Amino acid sequence: MDIIAEGHSKIIYQTPDNDRIEMYFKDTATAFHNIKRAKIIGKGQYVNKISAFLFQQLKTAGVDNHFIETIDDRRMLCLKTEVLPLRVIVRNSAAGSVCARFGIKEGTVFSEPVYEMNYKSETLDNPFLNEHMAVAFGFVTHDEMALISHIAHQANKVLTEVFNKCGISLVDFKLEFGRLSNGTLIIADEISPDTCRLVDKATGTHLDKDRFRHDMGDIINAYQTVLTRLNYGRL
Ligand code: UDP
Repeated sequence: MDIIAEGHSKIIYQTPDNDRIEMYFKDTATAFHNIKRAKIIGKGQYVNKISAFLFQQLKTAGVDNHFIETIDDRRMLCLKTEVLPLRVIVRNSAAGSVCARFGIKEGTVFSEPVYEMNYKSETLDNPFLNEHMAVAFGFVTHDEMALISHIAHQANKVLTEVFNKCGISLVDFKLEFGRLSNGTLIIADEISPDTCRLVDKATGTHLDKDRFRHDMGDIINAYQTVLTRLNYGRL
């Protein structure tokens, strides 16, 4: 199959059906705009399985996304979309860059979810983007922006509840959006401990990529814990 795109952690293949792609999850981890990079054996399998589970939960709750089905340990079949050049970050409490940029204490719970966007460009350090810019630059219409906000809000509600049930706090996460050939916007890419901050409610332990970012170790154990708890829906 032809490769449509290859990133740090995934390869996207065109399937014989023009409307479908295959996503292959690699073991590469990157952080701090690709300055830090490592191979973490087995990570791709956890990211694939956790993403598949979360996409399925979203689908069941009526939040449309590109997931069709799991193919094997490292691959999933998805609808083909034209991915928008922007990321939506949803934050329930303060962590990572928002603490540094706004001087907010880590762990501060926001009175309502915070939504922010950035422009996907590593060479430009993924600069901040607001709705006016996203529309003026031709990425989306105002109506599409309203839909993106609505979907992000719904996804946050569903995912927060899913993680709550297994004793995990969803601190923040990143969403990407794609446009189907008929113009419909849906969630694309992945949703996993690589793209979410997940904290064990009982111990405060990070079960996400912060373990890699900040050399905390036990990355695979953490991802395994997330998958096990999701599968059993309990502590
Ligand atoms: N995130 C991501 N990809 C990015 C940037 C952020 O998946 O390119 C996720 C990140 O894992 C975290 C959330 O979005 O769950 C918020 O990240 P933040 O803006 O705090 O940046 P970071 O601290 O990760 O540099």
